[in-house]
Amino acid sequence: MYADIIIEISHEKLDRPFQYRIPEKLEGSIEPGSYVEVPFGKGGRTIKGYVVNITDKAEIEEERIKDITALAVVSKGEEVKSSLIALAAWMKHNYGGTLIQSLKTVLPVRSTVKGKVRRLVYLNMDIKDAAAVHAEMIQKHQVARARVLAGLMDEDGADATLICDKLHVNNTVLNALEKAGHIRIEANKEYRKPDIFDDKKSGFVDLNIEQQIAVRTVQEDMDRGEGNTYLVHGVTGSGKTEVYIEIIADVIKRGKQAIVLIPEISLTYQTVMRFYRRFGERVSYMHSKLSAGERYDQWERASKGLIDIMIGPRSALFTPFEHLGVIIIDEEHEGSYKAENMPRYHAREVALQRARMSGASVILGSATPSVDSYYRASVGEYKLIELKNRAKGSALPKVDIIDMREELVRGNRSMFSDRLRELIEDRLNAHRQIMLFLNRRGFAGFVSCRKCGYVYKCPHCDVSLSAHKNGKLLCHYCGYETRLEKTCPKCSSKLIGGMKAGTEKVEIELKKLYPEARILRMDGDTTKNKGDYDRILKDFSDEKADILVGTQMIVKGHDFPKVTLVGILAADMSLYAPNYRSQERTFDLITQAAGRAGRDREEGAVVIQTYSPDNYSIIAGGAQDYTAFYEQEFSYRKLLAYPPLEHMLKVLIESPDEAEAGDYAEKAASVGRSHKEVETIGPADDVLSKLKDIYRKTVYIKCKEYETLAVIKDEIEEERRRNGIGGSRIQFDFDPL
Ligand code: ADP
Ligand code: ZN
Ligand code: ZN
Repeated sequence: MYADIIIEISHEKLDRPFQYRIPEKLEGSIEPGSYVEVPFGKGGRTIKGYVVNITDKAEIEEERIKDITALAVVSKGEEVKSSLIALAAWMKHNYGGTLIQSLKTVLPVRSTVKGKVRRLVYLNMDIKDAAAVHAEMIQKHQVARARVLAGLMDEDGADATLICDKLHVNNTVLNALEKAGHIRIEANKEYRKPDIFDDKKSGFVDLNIEQQIAVRTVQEDMDRGEGNTYLVHGVTGSGKTEVYIEIIADVIKRGKQAIVLIPEISLTYQTVMRFYRRFGERVSYMHSKLSAGERYDQWERASKGLIDIMIGPRSALFTPFEHLGVIIIDEEHEGSYKAENMPRYHAREVALQRARMSGASVILGSATPSVDSYYRASVGEYKLIELKNRAKGSALPKVDIIDMREELVRGNRSMFSDRLRELIEDRLNAHRQIMLFLNRRGFAGFVSCRKCGYVYKCPHCDVSLSAHKNGKLLCHYCGYETRLEKTCPKCSSKLIGGMKAGTEKVEIELKKLYPEARILRMDGDTTKNKGDYDRILKDFSDEKADILVGTQMIVKGHDFPKVTLVGILAADMSLYAPNYRSQERTFDLITQAAGRAGRDREEGAVVIQTYSPDNYSIIAGGAQDYTAFYEQEFSYRKLLAYPPLEHMLKVLIESPDEAEAGDYAEKAASVGRSHKEVETIGPADDVLSKLKDIYRKTVYIKCKEYETLAVIKDEIEEERRRNGIGGSRIQFDFDPL
């Protein structure tokens, strides 16, 4: 047996592993991640390295391969690295791509940047004085300063970087505030040991019974030394975050550490501060805009044991904690947990693997769990924990589902139903706020009838067909093709075509209808620059607008107490996205959007406009009934053998030459077809059939056993190594979203 060994873990040196022989005496004790001593270079000087892969194939002549000398003594710090390297090896096997790609995902770039001093900002006066100063600042239009003060009044003792980053101020503002004596900035290189039991900042709430049961379930398993996976299914506002916080406190008491994953988009000042408030300086947070140096700094801090909690998006999963106790994944259904580049891993799966390796627990939380996770819970792989009530007792909103076909019959051809307009006017008069939501246009549009609601679907895959030039309708899974008729195949109406509407158009129409209303728009166009996103939300939250129009960006976990009406203008846009998860996404969307309405005392209303009022994800979404949705969705997935009932591998072949892309896709498909136990579909054009002059073809392979698909992936890679790849590139995506 041979081992591929990476000599030194600095990023630059990762470009190639070296092969060594595993001597008999070490057989069985070497695995990916093992730290070993090997002879290196001409003089055969002994150096240390990590095993990243074990194989029985020699890459060079046998005589030239040297033996591993011995297992190296693992010192503090290297232990974590070993386990992360083993994790990278696992990722390579499960997601494909090169080992180097996986290692680079898992390890940070070594950087020479000096560890930054951490600065914490405190109010230098009591709350009452601060309120007075704040009011004065508002009067003088010192908005940036006022923002900082307000932030600190909310939560004192915040990280300076966090303040700058999330409140959109720079150091000049902080320095000015310090000079004026309003705030105190404490730089501490020596990290103080936190005293989490002496909580001065009132970070505690008394957990209600449901929350206590949730916490106790996890604690009892930990007492027995068991790491488990839990799915916390809790309605919006049920107090999931408080449950996480309590579990983390317990984990820290046990001398272990915690990773909290939050989708980047919900990683707001308020969220991060809830953790700071409770755990103080032992918390750190990450976001995707960190520089390599900053990232490395975070890594060092964690591996030296200077922090106990890391909050961040997907990549925070690889924080090098030595005694990892728990990984929490909030909003676990979110698509952003899936990596867009090779290796295309899903944070949930990697978290489970990392937890298995370190005996940690995993807690998945959501108001609308992914069908995958709920399925795992239903077969007993995860423990299901339910939080059925809102912590503050506010009622769930009232939901109206509006049949847009009927509006048409009544002669209303506008994008707003009569009911929605009535409610908008009511809210404008009452000085309440409104959110109107329009799903981002799909890449390739579905075609539907506005009169009867008919939608063109693939007879084999039951996903919507996408319209292409010259009237072609295509299935992006199997390649099925048909032609667009001039009239609806069901009711012969001429009102058949693609659904076209954008947020900008909504804004224009609204301005025509309600010239007095103040409108904010949030979409890809209005959030091009850093800070736009937070600014729009901030303005809306400061009640500088009556209506916020936006894409799905606006539905995510933000709390606007004055919002008492949420409108989903075209639920069908997500319902007929051309993939098997479109129903799931629609249900999420409606539930999350409904969660925005009436968070406070007043009852909220939700209006869902659709041409498919009978669709189960719309009905269940309107009723906020997850179980009803899940049962229907489960039967659909089962019937068509989609994940989670079977696993699905998407093979994407790209080439600047269309014929070549087709050839190599066909080759990949034939590897699939050589396995009788799998179903191979395609090749077909990808949903994005051409991107920046590169043609994209896909093959889908379905199988109950994940491992079979991993093996097929290896065979496809092997076939490409043997027979050449021309100008083509390949990507693998397991259980694509
Ligand atoms: P979720 O994460 O499920 O949406 P949160 O944890 O954000 O819910 O809780 C929603 C609101 O209810 C927050 O303002 C939180 O402080 C409050 N809250 C949560 N649990 C309790 C409790 N046991 N008692 C009082 N307030 C609570
Ligand atoms: Zn029709
Ligand atoms: Zn099809």
